[in-house]
Amino acid sequence: MRAIIKAAEWTLGPETAEGAPKEPMYEAECTSCGEQSGCTEGERLPAEVWALKHTGSNPAHRTFRAVITSFWRVSPVEGNPYRELEAP
Ligand SMILES: [Zn+2]
Repeated sequence: MRAIIKAAEWTLGPETAEGAPKEPMYEAECTSCGEQSGCTEGERLPAEVWALKHTGSNPAHRTFRAVITSFWRVSPVEGNPYRELEAP
């Protein structure tokens, strides 16, 4: 019961801080050699194309780990004492 009350005092949403990605970050990693595509924000196609080209250059490397990263923030709701402590 106490856990439910505590959960009601906080809200979870996307991170909105300056510089935080607005869209998920997509990346592919070869499970054979560990090489990575690099991250792209909001677009998965570059990681997919990278994986296809990587197999083209290394025909035995055919499995990849797709990594999708989003950033979240937990914020106090109205009535949570932390809300007033953090107010500008
Ligand atoms: Zn590889």
